[in-house]
Amino acid sequence: MIGAYLPGNSTVEMKEVPVPVPGHGEVLLRMKASTICGSDIRCIYHEHLGKGPEGYQGVVAGHEPCGQIVKSGPGCRRFGVGDRVIVYHISGCGVCNDCRRGYMISCTSERYRRAYGWQRDGGMADFLLAEEKDLIHLPAELSYADGAQVACGFGTVYEGLEKIGISGNYAVLITGLGPVGLATGALCRKLGAEKIIGIDVVPERMKLALDLKLCDEVLASGPENVAEVRRLTGGHGVERAVDCSANEQARATAIRATRKWGRIVFLGEGGRVEFNPSPDIIHDQKTIYGSWVTSTWLMEELVERLVRWNLHPADLVTHRFPLERVDQAYTLMASGKCGKVAVCFDEEL
Ligand SMILES: [Zn+2]
Ligand SMILES: [Zn+2]
Repeated sequence: MIGAYLPGNSTVEMKEVPVPVPGHGEVLLRMKASTICGSDIRCIYHEHLGKGPEGYQGVVAGHEPCGQIVKSGPGCRRFGVGDRVIVYHISGCGVCNDCRRGYMISCTSERYRRAYGWQRDGGMADFLLAEEKDLIHLPAELSYADGAQVACGFGTVYEGLEKIGISGNYAVLITGLGPVGLATGALCRKLGAEKIIGIDVVPERMKLALDLKLCDEVLASGPENVAEVRRLTGGHGVERAVDCSANEQARATAIRATRKWGRIVFLGEGGRVEFNPSPDIIHDQKTIYGSWVTSTWLMEELVERLVRWNLHPADLVTHRFPLERVDQAYTLMASGKCGKVAVCFDEEL
């Protein structure tokens, strides 16, 4: 089979590798959809910058895999051949405290914690070897491209929104309208938010947020953003803010454009932020949350809700490529002039 590797100089290397054979508790997936994440670009594609959980160990790329089981090893207890599945993208040891909570993202085992597409082979290949315990059932109502986005982006957003609480009572600010920001808009809508304000710098993304009705107002990033958000919210600011940008200015805007008693969650990775604790959060009784990926059980809950809400994450996919053209997929994602970019197989292409 063919697998795509990221040597770290903004190119993709294609290699012929043997189709893996599932061992005990493992399954072989025929890949159907594998989406590209901002973190692939940030930590791997241009240069190998990541360390620890974000260290890339020269494996097949792609940590947002979704496919169909074509072979199952001995000892599988729930899933079997023919099942459509999402892969929770971090395979943990399964027995540390964090794994037992379902947060394999935070697995503390240095030896056994391995993320797909980072430390073990990921989804940018014809087939993927996965552990059964990492699988989430993909219901018939959702496509594989829907599922691939749950594997990382939508799951991460859902977790963050559950932490701060979203409802029709609240105006929401989203800083950064890349795939994670767009997913935030889509989920906030279904959770009842009726005033969603987005901020970005890329015209394509701003237009997409409005065209898909994921934001009610979109502002070009600039020094007036806090005043603009206040103007749009009766002078008070939003009750909830979600940073999906990791940009220093945008993070400060998210904090300052949130009103008294408001909640802010940071999802965007990397970078820094500077703010003044007393005026910016303490005196206004605000809370800032950090949120990293999600748990396996919350991912299952999200999948159930996506069906109930008739929400299809694949609507955010603006470009699909076959595996042979995966290099173009990464180039496009690195340019930022797109929504979500997917590598698709068979019926998903
Ligand atoms: Zn990701
Ligand atoms: Zn663990």
